[in-house]
Amino acid sequence: MQPIGIFGGTFDPIHFGHLRLAEEMAEGIGLSRVVFIPAGQPPHRGAPRTAATHRLEMVRRAIAGNPRFAVDAREVQSPRPSYTVDTLATLRAELGDEPPLWLLLGADAFLGLPSWHEWRQLFELAHLAVAARPGAQLMQSDAMPEVLKNEVSQRQVAAGSAGSVLLRQMTPLDISATAIRDTLARHGSARYLLPDVVLDYIHEHQLYLHT
Ligand code: ATP
Repeated sequence: MQPIGIFGGTFDPIHFGHLRLAEEMAEGIGLSRVVFIPAGQPPHRGAPRTAATHRLEMVRRAIAGNPRFAVDAREVQSPRPSYTVDTLATLRAELGDEPPLWLLLGADAFLGLPSWHEWRQLFELAHLAVAARPGAQLMQSDAMPEVLKNEVSQRQVAAGSAGSVLLRQMTPLDISATAIRDTLARHGSARYLLPDVVLDYIHEHQLYLHT
């Protein structure tokens, strides 16, 4: 059974940091595909965010042409907030127990894992592949919460369909959606930080004009 990558994020907007992470993980781990899952509208956050439909469409355009990449709209279409653990459980139910699932994460997201809803359950459902990210100290172990360190040290062997943790280097790209939004809000150029097709979409729909 060929392993499948699952890549969640707000993708507000999707950029080359996301796309390189997915590409390098796919190549390095040997994933048959990577499924991008944009998060739905976070209900508890006060500030208006980019509509989920826009974020979904930007992901669609960004990955078009890569036969290994796919997008899944289940979180965007859900009326309720989606926890990663629930999304993985539904995917696992659909795909069966056999295929290895790899949850792809950047280092900053991984370091925050202990605050996620039922986070230990994630290891029952998928392997975790964590990419180093500039600014998030992953390989320096003193930056990692003790509970995570324990999980990492016990979960180094990738066997079966879930349960291991892999820390991987990737081409360091110090790109963030926050910095792109800030640049666009001051009418600066975000070119070459994200695909042209995404930038065209942003301009067409006048997104990110304000911080
Ligand atoms: P924001 O600046 O709005 O917080 P972001 O750029 O961190 O956004 P998200 O959509 O929150 O993007 O990230 C989705 C996933 O991609 C997370 O696991 C995050 O760690 C990872 N990621 C994002 N950008 C990079 C990058 N430049 N290098 C490595 N991982 C990244």
